[in-house]
Amino acid sequence: MQNESRGHIAVFMDRDGTIIDELGFLKDPNDLNIIPGAVDAISLINRAQMKAVIVTNQSGVARGYFSEETLEKIHQRLKEILMKKGAYIDAIYYCPHHPEEGHPEYRKRCNCRKPYSGMLDLAAKDLSVDLEHSYVVGDKIIDIKLAHRVGAKGVLVLTGYGKVEVELLDDALKLRPHYIAKDILEAVNWILFDLGKKV
Ligand SMILES: [Mg+2]
Repeated sequence: MQNESRGHIAVFMDRDGTIIDELGFLKDPNDLNIIPGAVDAISLINRAQMKAVIVTNQSGVARGYFSEETLEKIHQRLKEILMKKGAYIDAIYYCPHHPEEGHPEYRKRCNCRKPYSGMLDLAAKDLSVDLEHSYVVGDKIIDIKLAHRVGAKGVLVLTGYGKVEVELLDDALKLRPHYIAKDILEAVNWILFDLGKKV
C-alpha cells in the first residue's frame, strides 16, 4: 500500500517475544522458534503491500554474549524460515549498543536503541516509509513509546513480556497502545481493520 506522495505504510515488528520466542539472549540460530501466527501475520502484511520490517534491540552484542556476525546469521535463518513458509521480510534493523554495559565500541547512548527512533528513521529513508501512517507492534512499552515518538500507531502484543508489560500501562500516561492484541496475527488483523483493508 502506498500513499502517492507520502510513501509506503510499514508494520515495524519487534523480534523477541513478538515474532520469535523470547529466550533472554538468543545466541544460536538453531534455537529460533517462531511464535504461532507470525507467518500468517507477515504474509498478510505482504499481501496488503505494506513493508514488513523487524526492529530489534540486541544489546547482547554490546554485552559480548554474541557477535554481530552471529546476529546476522540468526537473521538470515529467520528470513529463510519465514520465506519458505511464504512470509517475506523487507528489512531487519538492529541496535547492538547499550548505554552503560559492555565493550567500549558498543557502549554508548545511541539514537537507535528503542524507544529512540534511529532504526525507523533509517527505514523511512531506505524503504520510503511514511512513518506517520505506519504501525509498531511489540511486546514491550518501549515499542509503544517508539510508535508515539514517530507519530505511528502502536500495538502491544501479549506474547513474550506482553502480559507483564500490560500491567505497567498507566492510563494517566500518554503512551497507551492504540490496540492490545493477543499475538502478532491479531495485531495485524487489527491494523488491516484500522486501514479499512481487505486482503
Ligand atoms: Mg520484545
